[in-house]
Amino acid sequence: MKRLDFLKILALSPFALAAMKLNELETITNGLTETEKMPVLFLGHGSPMNAIEENEFVTGFRNIGKDIPKPTAILVISAHWETKGTFVTAMEKPRTIHDFGGFPQALFNVQYPAPGSSDFAEETKRIIRKTQVGLDDKWGLDHGTWSVVKHLYPKADVPVIQMSIDYMQGGQYHYDLAKELATLRKKGVLIIGSGNMVHNLGMVAWDKLNADSYGYDWAIEANDTMKKYILSDNHQPLINFKSQGKAFDLAIPSPEHYLPLIYTLALKEDKEKITIFNDKAVAGSLTMTSLKID
Ligand code: ZN
Repeated sequence: MKRLDFLKILALSPFALAAMKLNELETITNGLTETEKMPVLFLGHGSPMNAIEENEFVTGFRNIGKDIPKPTAILVISAHWETKGTFVTAMEKPRTIHDFGGFPQALFNVQYPAPGSSDFAEETKRIIRKTQVGLDDKWGLDHGTWSVVKHLYPKADVPVIQMSIDYMQGGQYHYDLAKELATLRKKGVLIIGSGNMVHNLGMVAWDKLNADSYGYDWAIEANDTMKKYILSDNHQPLINFKSQGKAFDLAIPSPEHYLPLIYTLALKEDKEKITIFNDKAVAGSLTMTSLKID
């Protein structure tokens, strides 16, 4: 709210104040108009170098961008923003965060100057009942977001906000929370979970980094089992990922890259179709497997 508006409200009676709050709420709700239901994506982002390299995964991201209606706004749940509690970025100009080390200068030079949207952040906060969502003015767009979204929308002309992952919470909590985002799909919002289904950096096969595709047996097994559950709408074992045995334990040594998948799956409605793309293992212990649900 602008300072002048705030001063005006202070001068009003309690009744007028209540009325204004209602009006204000309506304005925000109406800010995003009804559209056809947007798809939901899970994007396996892999190495930050995918932001500047040409490879089949980047081509996969571009093709998806061309394949879906242009959104009015994008909401990303990125593996790289974990917080205590849930926050959404609410600044009008989110910075491009280079949250990595040891990469070429060219990667640090990348800027993705998509606008943010405080209205859209407010709307997202308002529709979530499960928890009190905080409005954040410090984060921005981390590489889990910009390294992939830049391939879908290279002109950076669609407002992007991020929602953080509460690291205190388990799979079921995130699944239930994500379901509350469903109405955004009918307001032109593209919701993207950005992580990796299989992601174990401690076990990367460094000698296979440049191989076209290479996955350890357990990585392939976990990825195949996940796909089987995804394609049969059997979400419960995926939500209870911590009790699925050795392959899952190795694939998900920490949950941050996996949980964005749970957000995407929670938004699937009955009879929606699932398209799998970029379905390859790289460097032994990562899979780039991505989903479009529409
Ligand atoms: Zn990552």
